[in-house]
Amino acid sequence: MEFSTFGQKFTRHAGITQLMDDLNQGLTTPNTIMLGGGNPAAIPEVLAYLDNQAQQLIKNGDLIKAMANYDGPQGKDAYINALARLLSKELGWPVGPEHIALTNGSQTAFFYLFNLLAGEFADGRKKKVLFPLAPEYIGYGDGALSEDHFVACKPTITQLDNGLFKYHVDFDQLEVGDDIGLICVSRPTNPTGNVLTDEEIMRLDAIAREKGIPLLIDNAYGMPFPNIIFTEAKPFWNDNTILCMSLSKLGLPGVRCGIVVGSPELIKAMTNISGIINLAPGSMGPAMTLPMMENGDVITLSNEVIRPFYQAKAQQAVTWLQEAITLPQFHIHKPEGALFLWLWFEDLPIHSQELYERLKQKGLLVVPGHYFFPGITDEHWQHSKECIRLNYAQSEADVQAGIKILAEEIYAIYQAP
Ligand code: PLP
Repeated sequence: MEFSTFGQKFTRHAGITQLMDDLNQGLTTPNTIMLGGGNPAAIPEVLAYLDNQAQQLIKNGDLIKAMANYDGPQGKDAYINALARLLSKELGWPVGPEHIALTNGSQTAFFYLFNLLAGEFADGRKKKVLFPLAPEYIGYGDGALSEDHFVACKPTITQLDNGLFKYHVDFDQLEVGDDIGLICVSRPTNPTGNVLTDEEIMRLDAIAREKGIPLLIDNAYGMPFPNIIFTEAKPFWNDNTILCMSLSKLGLPGVRCGIVVGSPELIKAMTNISGIINLAPGSMGPAMTLPMMENGDVITLSNEVIRPFYQAKAQQAVTWLQEAITLPQFHIHKPEGALFLWLWFEDLPIHSQELYERLKQKGLLVVPGHYFFPGITDEHWQHSKECIRLNYAQSEADVQAGIKILAEEIYAIYQAP
């Protein structure tokens, strides 16, 4: 079979494919400790709440109604209206239904946005997507129709107390030329748990406005839901911002529901693309969560159950890791949000891919860090090969067992690579 250029690009091995394969393997192979994927934790209160919602839907006939009908290409009207009211009420943003579109997960939204705002233009110009702070989310890296679509900027690294460090945007090195069509950040960041400061966001917003390009903030873990943020940070949106949200980290990755908040012009464009590619976004996520968006339970659950659950887990995992690995070369990015700990093994004698494979052989799945540098072209940047990402939100037994395997392997590697 001969594949087109599109086919060649989208059938080759991608980091995100490895991640999803491993996730599946970890979930289906007994005795594998799965600290690799981005699956949200099974939080009993959240599952019970959602189970109750599902029962209600079945009882009142809304489940079959949702499944038996297409929504419009922008997404279910009642749901978009409820989201607009929620965002206006909770965050004070002037958001109406014309500012919101639904997609089949935010991963789909990124694909639309990256190719809508960057790539080839009718007059022959080419534009790229800029990630102002690498490391960034693995899922962005392959979501472009053209090659050479992304560019990224290395961060500054600040060493904090007690073995932690934090990345910041290196504004001195950040170049935003006329060849940039979109600036994109995840906040909180997957894989590092970094939360860009309010000042960083305001500076990026000012740069984007000056250049006449949008700023995409991927808010998959952010406010107002699921609110997996452990630090002070103001939610940010204006009509030059594209805010991507999702039901996944609330606990519903299987319904594939992403939410895009942007200018009416952008939302119209997204709606048209959605009609061509999907006819309509899936209706299960909106049906399941409409009542909680309308009555505000989504905020209560996020603030009172989801955030405290993850915060306690993150702190616990940091303590266990620091007890298990006391090498001076071992650093953890300050956990400010999201589901992950980003571990940096300074001067690691082997590549992070090899570390990943050695751990996999011992029954522990993590994600090697080098995938998280989309847009970085410096192959000699040692830091990008010295990190791994670990999902701290799994069961205590798994996290502890995983840390034990990791610590043994790390000591062995530093002593005799
Ligand atoms: N954005 C970030 C930063 C993520 O980590 C993820 C999933 O892990 C997503 C977006 C994807 O979300 P969705 O399930 O809505 O496609």
